[in-house]
Parts: sequence; structure tokens; C-alpha cells
Amino acid sequence: MATLIDGKAFAASLRERIAGETAGFTAKTGRKPGLAVVLVGEDAASQVYVRSKHKACIAAGMESFEHRLPADTAEADLLSLVAQLNGDARVDGILVQLPLPEGMDENAVIQAIDPDKDVDGFTTASAGRLLTGLPGFVACTPLGCLMLLKDALGDLSGKSAVVIGRSNIVGKPMAQLLLRESCTVTIAHSRTRDLPETVRGADIVVAAVGRPEMVKGDWLKPGATVIDVGINRVPGEEEGKTRLVGDVDFASAKDVAGAITPVPGGVGPMTIACLLHNTLDAACRREGVDRTAL
Ligand code: NDP
Repeated sequence: MATLIDGKAFAASLRERIAGETAGFTAKTGRKPGLAVVLVGEDAASQVYVRSKHKACIAAGMESFEHRLPADTAEADLLSLVAQLNGDARVDGILVQLPLPEGMDENAVIQAIDPDKDVDGFTTASAGRLLTGLPGFVACTPLGCLMLLKDALGDLSGKSAVVIGRSNIVGKPMAQLLLRESCTVTIAHSRTRDLPETVRGADIVVAAVGRPEMVKGDWLKPGATVIDVGINRVPGEEEGKTRLVGDVDFASAKDVAGAITPVPGGVGPMTIACLLHNTLDAACRREGVDRTAL
């Protein structure tokens, strides 16, 4: 039976550590780190995420600036809000909640964020910095996966890793992070010819596909470390109820893997913790504060 990688507990201790560092930052600079979150429209899931981010900021001792705009906001007005936040000294991190209402150019809005405040790591500048090894912000979900992997395995150098999925927000930055840790990285996707065989060679498997329980136990190398990014809602046992499952078939994978993240309670809780981590990093860089000394 695999060891469970408890993302919930790891995220809670990370948030506690960040709260301590944040207090140190505030004592040193006389101001709190600030995160601005922009929500356009009424998307129900986005409202829940924005509320959670706000609460997490406050709990960590950070300033949270919420900007809620109606769905019919003109793109030019949204762009001028982003420009205003770029210039606001109290704001260290800017997050524009996606998806934006139909008709808005998401890419144009994201690219308008100052890369030094891009705590979501979605701008091309951030992606390029990751690719070329320059300091910058890494998207929160893959960053959280990497933290869990390093906690479970220590040094990742020389390990073979398969990332299933090549999205800009999860798969690609995940693969770059693993490469940066000197893993030998394979990126698999919907055109990969023999996915089970590809996965079988890996010491580390990161599944970010969006297909419920796709990765089976008999695809895994015995003892592999499995990070399941997937969040899929499927019909539950009781009629009318749903339950969350990952992209990995936990029931069969747990008997083969050496360590595995559950869903829920694995990668999910790491995302907001990493957003706070990035926001504090942004604040420290802007103020020239050495975070390791906090
Ligand atoms: P995308 O839909 O953007 O990307 C999915 C990737 O999976 C694509 O690269 C696609 O390949 C690949 N894929 C699809 N079908 C197959 C298949 N049969 N075999 C191999 N590869 C396949 O998804 P995201 O990256 O945004 O998200 C992935 C999952 O992670 C989702 O379940 C999402 O809910 C979850 N997620 C969880 C987060 C968290 O906080 N825990 C945050 C973000 C996402 P191709 O490129 O060829 O189409």
C-alpha cells in the first residue's frame, strides 16, 4: 500500500510558515504584502475561489484587494484597472480570475499584468523566465505539485518523470519545473501512442488530464510516486449526489505506487497556499527583503 501524500496537511503547515514570514515582512517594512484579485462577472465557481483566496490572504496577515466588475465591463476598462494595479505600491500580486466573460480577450488581459506582480505565473514573461531559468513566478498548481514531490522524495535529480497533459497552466510548467530539478522528463498528451507503456517507465507520474480515473494501477512502475492533479466530478453512490475523483484510478494505483496524492486532499489545497507563497515572494522582491531572513 502506497504512502499517502497529505496535501491538506502540507498546505496547512506551509500557510502557517507563510503567516510567520508575513509578520516578519510587515514588521520590517511597515506594510502588509498585498494581493489584488479581479473577478469579472458572476461565474459561481469563480466566486467561491475568489472568496477562498480573500480569506486565505487575511488569515496569512496579508492585505486583500478585491475588485468585482459586472459581466458587461468593457475590456478597455478591465485593462485600465490592471494598469492601475500595476502602478499601485500597496499591490504586490495581481490575479485576474479566469474564465473571463465571453468576448473578452483573456490573453490580452493576462499579458497586461506586470510580470513582477504576476503571482499566478500566467504571463508569457513568467513562462519564459521559467523556461530560461530566470527568477520569476511559477503557476501555483505545478509549484504545489513540485513542493509535494520534493517533500516526499527529497532530491529529484536523475529520476524519470512523465507529465500527462500539456496545458499552459499545469502540464507545461510542471514539465519545466521537473527539468529544472534535473529529472528526465517526458510530456504525454492525447496523441501519445502507448500511454500505459510510457507511464510504466516513470519514477514520477504527474497526471493533469481531466479524465476521471484514467491512469490505472497496472500502468505504474512499482514504487512510483504519483501526483494526481485531476479534479473530476462524477455521479456518487447515492442518487443525485456527486463525488470528486482524480485522473488516477486511486483504488488500483495505491497498491502499486510507492506514494500517491488522494483526491480530494492532495494537490487541490496546495494551489492557494502557493498563491500566498508567490505573493510574499513578490512583496519581498519589490521591497528588497531577503525572505530567508524573515
Ligand atoms: P486541459 O484540458 O487544459 O489539458 C488536458 C491535457 O490532457 C491536454 O494536454 C490533453 O492533450 C491531455 N489529454 C486529454 N485526453 C488525454 C488522453 N486520453 N490521454 C493523454 N492525454 C490526454 O486541462 P488542465 O491542464 O487545465 O487541467 C487538467 C486537470 O487538472 C483537470 O482535471 C483540472 O480540473 C485539474 N486542475 C486542478 C487544479 C488544482 O488546483 N488541483 C488546477 C488546475 C487544473 P492535448 O493537448 O493533446 O489535447
